[in-house]
Amino acid sequence: MGWHSCELCRVAPARGVYNVWIPSDAALYVAPELVVHYIEAHQYRPPDEFIAAVLACPEQGTAEYLRLVGQHSRHQPV
Ligand SMILES: [Zn+2]
Repeated sequence: MGWHSCELCRVAPARGVYNVWIPSDAALYVAPELVVHYIEAHQYRPPDEFIAAVLACPEQGTAEYLRLVGQHSRHQPV
């Protein structure tokens, strides 16, 4: 919990506190927002299945996005 600083940056390390949620039919990927920084600044390559989920992910906040997130929720309405 709380913010995290990039340990690879030598000057003015990037910081992140939030997570990105990437739902797909198969899984709900939750990654620290710094994953974007690691990709852009440090050439990190996520697993192929994560990349495929990102490319196929509907726009955040749309009905389809929320449907996919809800599909993986353990909490069902009573
Ligand atoms: Zn960094």
